[in-house]
Amino acid sequence: MGLTLTEKILRDHMVEGESVKGQEIGIRIDQTLTQDATGTMAYLEFEAMGVPRVKTEKSVAYIDHNTLQSGFENADDHRFIGSVCKKHGIYFSRPGNGICHQVHLERFGIPGKTLIGSDSHTPTGGGLGMIAMGAGGMDVAVAMGGGTYYITYPKIVKVELTGKLNPWVAAKDVILEVLRILSVKGGVGKVIEYCGEGVKSLSVPERATITNMGAELGATTSIFPSDEITREFLRAQDREADYKPLSADADAEYDEIIEINLSELEPMAACPHSPDNVKKISELAGMKIDQVCIGSCTNSSLLDMLKVAYILDGKTVDPGVSLSIAPGSKQVLNMIAENGALSKMIDAGARILESACGPCIGMGQSPNSGGISLRTFNRNFEGRSGTKDGQVYLVSPEVAAVSAIAGVMTDPRSLGDMPEFKLPEVFTINDNMVVPPIEEEKMDTVEVLRGPNIKPFPVSEPLLDEIDAKCSLKVGDNITTDHIMPAGAKILPLRSNIPKISEYCFAVCDEEFPKRALDLKRSIIIGGSNYGQGSSREHAALAPLYLGVKAVLTKSFARIHMANLINAGILPMTFANEADYDKVDQMDDLYIANVREQVKNSDIIKITDKTKGFEFEAKLDLSERQRAMLLAGGLLNYTKENA
Ligand code: SF4
Repeated sequence: MGLTLTEKILRDHMVEGESVKGQEIGIRIDQTLTQDATGTMAYLEFEAMGVPRVKTEKSVAYIDHNTLQSGFENADDHRFIGSVCKKHGIYFSRPGNGICHQVHLERFGIPGKTLIGSDSHTPTGGGLGMIAMGAGGMDVAVAMGGGTYYITYPKIVKVELTGKLNPWVAAKDVILEVLRILSVKGGVGKVIEYCGEGVKSLSVPERATITNMGAELGATTSIFPSDEITREFLRAQDREADYKPLSADADAEYDEIIEINLSELEPMAACPHSPDNVKKISELAGMKIDQVCIGSCTNSSLLDMLKVAYILDGKTVDPGVSLSIAPGSKQVLNMIAENGALSKMIDAGARILESACGPCIGMGQSPNSGGISLRTFNRNFEGRSGTKDGQVYLVSPEVAAVSAIAGVMTDPRSLGDMPEFKLPEVFTINDNMVVPPIEEEKMDTVEVLRGPNIKPFPVSEPLLDEIDAKCSLKVGDNITTDHIMPAGAKILPLRSNIPKISEYCFAVCDEEFPKRALDLKRSIIIGGSNYGQGSSREHAALAPLYLGVKAVLTKSFARIHMANLINAGILPMTFANEADYDKVDQMDDLYIANVREQVKNSDIIKITDKTKGFEFEAKLDLSERQRAMLLAGGLLNYTKENA
């Protein structure tokens, strides 16, 4: 039986496990990327591993999320990332060089390689035939240190594309159609693989729009074959040597098949407040709009900008509409400045933003109260725009531009004939905003620059042989990671400063907790059912680690938080008999003997409540790899030991 493209790339990178769907496999990672909002922590974690130089083929740090400087914290973070990259072998894409996924596609992505990035839209790289996946900051740090990345072997969905898009129907409409069919949950545990004759009519940036927004399906990733179109794109980027033809075998078998005839698609929009709430523009036409934002990692390529400039040429933005445009990269901005497209946009009344995420992450351009905003982005969740009652519609650049002129939602097919928009044979290449790392021999000459907001990552110690600790906190059921480590405008800028951010740990439940835990030095937290539900933020494990929490004992855990505790080297146990939860009180003295031996060999941990004078049992439901990680003192130590 032949192989799918996904199976071929996974097979070439597999270092642990077997190709059995639903089972855990370990793969080698060739490339990593970070953005600034997650990057500082990833590099602090990398530093804590003590690996002098990255072991990946290429690692790149981008600054694109928090480019608004409203305090010293962001500037400190950017300076820290730049210096840590220079020292440890990482390329640094400076603020202004562009959005991570757009720049990575242009300058770094390579067909057939594996890429993980601490950003959920890393699958954009699938447009070049990569297995590109979003991951946690610690996973990226471990991959940079040469460690294995673990995923569940995915099911593979074939999306067979036939026909050819009609004029003014876009790649965005293809992914909106897939979202309409599969929904935002339809891709979980799956890779979406695009095949068929229709693929040949899509350029690499169009393919990347489709794989980018595959993240909204909840998919592991999405991928296109690497073909002559890919070769042309890489040649135009002066990277033809990176080209390699890749496709699925003709007799490959898939878990699911979806057929889409491109010729039958119409312009569409994802209506508020979910990317799968898809309707045809013809059904929405005439709706008055307040704002249009063009850009983001989904739709900010040169091709997108050329279409927008053509539509705006000689026209004026409707007086009731604010139109902003953020070209995706310095390369795109440079080229539209050179060929006159930029002046057409400015002339029409567009507000030109820097090449960064901007409004997509709520950094500026929030719509007016109850305002209707058309955006070429990938997410329209309630409140994401910064305006709680803002109504965001996700559309193609073509729909966005034509509607900005008309002041109402407009079907771009009303423009009539469409000229042929072609990518240039040669892009304008100038990587002067990418700072390469210093040579390995000179790395000791580089000082890592830490402002007051940058503090070292808390290093965890190997698991103790005995835990003699007090219960520093007892909480009830359904504690979320927001309870454990709140976010928000005041706390988020402290993300690179674990000691400082830890002062807010559990403060919403018990504001004395952080100080009490620090005074105790070693402690155990007791929780109820579903402990750690909600966001996957790793700070909800790192702050307790810094505060000296050695174990968390609950009735049950939310899956991702439990994994984060293990990564941090904190022992996650559940009550063998839930009635024991009621017997243990905050500030009880708890004692566990022979901890290492018990973690290595047993599913049961014996605990003594010395205050109450009774012994009870806790369960440890862990894989062998997780036990080894706990013994080592967390994922970073485990990786160091096994690298
Ligand atoms: Fe995330 Fe938006 Fe930036 Fe893309 S443009 S990386 S979706 S914030």
